[in-house]
Amino acid sequence: MGSSSSKSANRLDKALGTSVPDDEHFFGLENFGNTCYCNSVLQALYYCHPFRDACIAFAQSTERGSDNLLHCLCDLFLTIYSQKRRCGILGPRKFVLKLREENELFRSNMHQDAHEFLNFLLNEATEILDGTKEREREQARPGAVDLAGRPAAAAALAAADARDADADAGARGHAHGARRQRQKTWVHAIFEGTLTNETKCLTCETVTTRDEDFLDLSLDIEQNSSVSACLRSFSTVEALRDGDKYYCDTCCSLQEAQKRMRIRRLPSVLALHLKRFKYIEQLGRYKKLSYRVVFPHELRVPGRLAHHGAAGGGRVGSGEPAGAAPSLPHSEEAAAESDDEDADVVYDLFAVVIHVGQGPNHGHYVSIVKAHNRWLLFDDETVELIDEQSIAACYGTTQDGAQNTDVGYLLFYQARGAPLSPLMPTPERQRSANSHATPKPSPA
Ligand SMILES: [Zn+2]
Repeated sequence: MGSSSSKSANRLDKALGTSVPDDEHFFGLENFGNTCYCNSVLQALYYCHPFRDACIAFAQSTERGSDNLLHCLCDLFLTIYSQKRRCGILGPRKFVLKLREENELFRSNMHQDAHEFLNFLLNEATEILDGTKEREREQARPGAVDLAGRPAAAAALAAADARDADADAGARGHAHGARRQRQKTWVHAIFEGTLTNETKCLTCETVTTRDEDFLDLSLDIEQNSSVSACLRSFSTVEALRDGDKYYCDTCCSLQEAQKRMRIRRLPSVLALHLKRFKYIEQLGRYKKLSYRVVFPHELRVPGRLAHHGAAGGGRVGSGEPAGAAPSLPHSEEAAAESDDEDADVVYDLFAVVIHVGQGPNHGHYVSIVKAHNRWLLFDDETVELIDEQSIAACYGTTQDGAQNTDVGYLLFYQARGAPLSPLMPTPERQRSANSHATPKPSPA
């Protein structure tokens, strides 16, 4: 640590004074060559308390030996957590080396996408936790057969196909269909929600629904909008017609249809990805959209966007397509049936990863986090207190080509009243936690 950085750590410690407890830590992270995408996401996750607590418990409980990416992450969090000093700088060297070993995407020193990293990290963590990787390797051995007696290689291919199909269909939500057959882990308990993909044939009116789980949600953005508006348009009905007709199993032919995506189950921690990097066909490349998208400190997600429909309401990890039960095409109808599950869910913003710079292939990431009611800016090694008012500067700009291109890219919200313990919430506990988020007057 250079003397100037230790001075800035001392300055921060002084500025924090007694407003923050002594056992909270604020450590800048050293940059190992364009690793700001990684540092900014790690800081956001460290101040996600259920996630941090679970990581520390994991680091303290597991036997050493396998040094996978999750171990490296949890060790890093434990190192930060165990520091005697409240402020300082650490080098996440072991974690970055492991990350580069695991995924060639992150091996170069080029600018990387913070969302891709977050998505990879969370999925990798779930796979490590439920040990699927081991089992898949086991099954991929020649001669192995699966439970149905099929050669394992074929089964693995089928599973991969299903995953790909889900990835295509769920491109909007980063769904990971393969997860359905897997064990739910504490990462799921914190970040996982469920989307329902509804398709209604306009000829026979049959509604087909398919559930997809997500660990983060990718939202299309528009100029001068808000996160709430983006969430609303997420559920807009899309018409499938002309060259884009839908194959209806009831009609046994291509038909015009209506398609809609709904959030069926909201997570405890809602990680939102604003799709600011858009492929422009005319340009043949990606362009950064610095659109102004307001993200509120308190995000109210209407229950009707995420009601737990009668069909399979709120089951965690249901492997069955919800289409087995009659599904209602209009949420209003469903809402009338499940009024108490329809309460708004209130989320509090606790971290934002900000992309700084004009283009998608270069730039910088920083993050702002909320800890003990203070807002802090983490810029690799540097950590400083910021005013809450200054966050509005990261909403984006109202015109293209404007100077201010420091914009909110990943948003982290925690549901009010969500269980703080990372232990697996049962669907019932999850639901009651959510529905109690906004107390409604009980009918007398
Ligand atoms: Zn039909």
